[in-house]
Amino acid sequence: MSTCNELSQPHQPHVALLPSAGMGHLTPFLRLATKLIHHHCRVTLITTHPTVSLTESQFISRFLSAFPQVTQLQFHLLPLDPSTANSNDPFWLRFEAIHRSAHLLSPILTSLSPPLDAFIYDVSLISSVIPVIESLHISNYILFISSARMFSLFSHYPDFASKAIFGDALEVIPRLKPIPRSSIPPLLLIPDSLFAKIIKEDSPKLPKSNGVLINTFEGLESEALEAFSNRKLVIEGLPPVFAVGTFVPCEFEKGEWDEPLRWLNEQKDGSVVYVSFGSRTAMSRDQLREVGHGLLKSGCRFLWVVKDKQVDKEDEEGLDEVVGHELIEKMKEKGLVVKKWVDQGELLGHRAVGGFVSHCGWNSVTEAAWHGVPILAWPQGGDQKINAEVVEMSGVAKAGFLSGFPGIESVLGPKLPQFEFLNHFNEENQKRYAELDDKFKSSPLLKEYLEKTKLNKEKFENFDC
Ligand code: UDP
Ligand code: UDP
Repeated sequence: MSTCNELSQPHQPHVALLPSAGMGHLTPFLRLATKLIHHHCRVTLITTHPTVSLTESQFISRFLSAFPQVTQLQFHLLPLDPSTANSNDPFWLRFEAIHRSAHLLSPILTSLSPPLDAFIYDVSLISSVIPVIESLHISNYILFISSARMFSLFSHYPDFASKAIFGDALEVIPRLKPIPRSSIPPLLLIPDSLFAKIIKEDSPKLPKSNGVLINTFEGLESEALEAFSNRKLVIEGLPPVFAVGTFVPCEFEKGEWDEPLRWLNEQKDGSVVYVSFGSRTAMSRDQLREVGHGLLKSGCRFLWVVKDKQVDKEDEEGLDEVVGHELIEKMKEKGLVVKKWVDQGELLGHRAVGGFVSHCGWNSVTEAAWHGVPILAWPQGGDQKINAEVVEMSGVAKAGFLSGFPGIESVLGPKLPQFEFLNHFNEENQKRYAELDDKFKSSPLLKEYLEKTKLNKEKFENFDC
């Protein structure tokens, strides 16, 4: 699957793609689809309805208008079920509904003409898609939407998780710089969270796929890629891993969001710090205000994208209400604060942007790497700490940033007094970990877990979170 040319004899290969919910999942799929089209593949895009966010549906429309040759198939899901998903998070609810509806894919895929040569689907759907695909005898590839380093953890799950929970994560993945327990996605430390359950089911099924595509490249992740390509990571039956990145922001993504660009045009080269935490990380209002004060204290010029709600349709209140009128007025002297979708792919390429304070969603990391913009990593949750480690190890973070922006350092934790918000984050983070550990201790699965992993209970009870 490294190129479509391999598949292009004797006919135009037909590839179907199935993304999962959220821009962090949809964006890499649409960028991969664009690559496939440019490699003369016939592309079918399977979309779920309605999308969780407005931006997803806008992106799909824009993509389909740019490529009228693409066939769109609507995949109608079973109703959402908060009790099964064990979560109120709208994106997780949708993940779970797609998972549960996967058997309905069979008629969709068999109806396709010409028949499919390959099916590429989101990593979160492995265990439900594999049985469908196996019966149809179609080659199937997983698009892993995070880093290769995160994939090393994913592919070693649940062995890795069972040890990580007890603080022994260090040596579980051979030949890779150890992943500390504190970097593991918090929800993976709770065995009955949906995230942990999905990975526990999906990871052992990896050998049933024909390959794993990762939006990464040698320069960014040489260590992990080398380990995968030389089969040094000892996982029986692991299919080939293809580094197919970096996915470049595409023409169709460009929208009507030109205010930040106009403002950047007036700024000096490399003088602006771009601050954004992705498409679905909503911060508390206290924390947002700390970020605002921190930015003012840093003395840098900044472009800050504020997000107050996880889903854009609900993000209705204005900046004055969310950040506070007085602070917003002060900030106008030094920067631009917006509370709407921006064209990040383009902004990061602007000559005025010299640094990026990022939550380290993997798409953001690869976009910054593509444009050569140094990152100040401020991971919030999920896979973001692991991605932040990649940022640090690859050097995407440090060079240039220190010299360009005195007072800001590339850090993976709360270290700098002038960034009060980092300290604030630390408190919240500690609290979150403590809550997660409490939840874990009361989990009915704990007993089974302890027995299975043969880890001693005393160690768990003395465990220091
Ligand atoms: N993004 C954007 N404008 C915004 C917010 C996000 O273009 O205002 C894009 C960003 O460029 C990236 C994606 O949305 O491609 C977010 O994915 P990422 O993996 O960085 O983080 P997530 O949103 O999944 O946490
Ligand atoms: N979440 C949840 N229950 C679960 C899994 C996730 O409520 O079983 C929520 C979690 O609280 C968080 C969101 O899903 O707000 C995203 O989780 P995470 O950051 O770990 O996932 P990712 O961003 O990697 O998809």
